[in-house]
Amino acid sequence: MVCLMKRVFLILAITLSMLCLGQPGVDRGVTVEIATWQGGASGAASLSFDDGYAETYNTVIPILAEKNINATFNVISVKVGGVYGELGLADWGQWRKAAENGHEIGSHMATHVHVDEVSAAELAGELESSKTNIKKNIGSDVLSFVYPGGAYDRGSRDVVANFFLSARTSDDGYNPAVPADMYLLKSKTVAEYNLPHMTGWADEASENGLWLIENLHLVGGENPTGYGFYMSTDDFTDHIDYLDSQGLWIAPQGVVARYVVERENSVANLSFPVFRQDSFSITLSNNLDSSVFNVPLTLVVTLPRGWNAVRVSSRGETLPGRVSKGILYIDAVPNNGRIIVTKHGFISYLAGLVGF
Ligand SMILES: [Zn+2]
Repeated sequence: MVCLMKRVFLILAITLSMLCLGQPGVDRGVTVEIATWQGGASGAASLSFDDGYAETYNTVIPILAEKNINATFNVISVKVGGVYGELGLADWGQWRKAAENGHEIGSHMATHVHVDEVSAAELAGELESSKTNIKKNIGSDVLSFVYPGGAYDRGSRDVVANFFLSARTSDDGYNPAVPADMYLLKSKTVAEYNLPHMTGWADEASENGLWLIENLHLVGGENPTGYGFYMSTDDFTDHIDYLDSQGLWIAPQGVVARYVVERENSVANLSFPVFRQDSFSITLSNNLDSSVFNVPLTLVVTLPRGWNAVRVSSRGETLPGRVSKGILYIDAVPNNGRIIVTKHGFISYLAGLVGF
């Protein structure tokens, strides 16, 4: 009788411990990977406006604000607030405000001189001056560059690489998830002859997981000088609507470039606590300079079966996460503490109360 009681107790104890703890440290099929593009988007798109025209500024800033989209504006630093060609340019106050609202201000050289018209030393001087001037007026670091006139060669590319994180050419094309050269990024030129093809650009990027950079110049209600690189306000509005509907991640060049570098240099590791079955954690780390490389990476996590709702936290703060078809998407800045994923439910609530 005593023996039977003992056996029943033992079975009960084992059953209870399995209910509460399950098998310690088992991953139950959880996997984690870093999404190619933020949010698990199908592709990436950057809107990159050259020269800094006032007409473009006044036209596109409100349209982008309505869609909550940020773009890159590449200014000719010594000409800001003046005139380029025959067109007026936006001033530093406007660019500062744009930057405060999340837009990127890139360098388009100090004087718009083409790289093949200056020596390597003069080029370095132009880049240094442009970078310092923009930073002084905007207050933030300058990460992106655009070759004036699209001109570049091997030597100038190497000089540019000393100053910026990425550079855009006017070479026609898309960039793969890992661009061949961050200092020779390809782009699609927005000009009247290309307007009929622009929806196709977004489709191509979305279908093939590419990074589309659109290189734009004048956008507005009128084109007084018959400038070729022009897009009307109506066409721009329609295009932004289309781009926004394609599931692309739309972000400035410098943000996408940092995402790429972080994605290629970060490691996501899973760990499973011994005493809990309703929780696991992820560390996302790299050896990059965190003061520059702080763009959130999207983690794609396969959840155990039946985990339909989870709580995601890091350093005691709740992180935004979204569950779709058993996959959890988390946006997290690397090197920013352990990310804890907990199955949402009564047990996790109790465990939370007692401080697990
Ligand atoms: Zn230009």
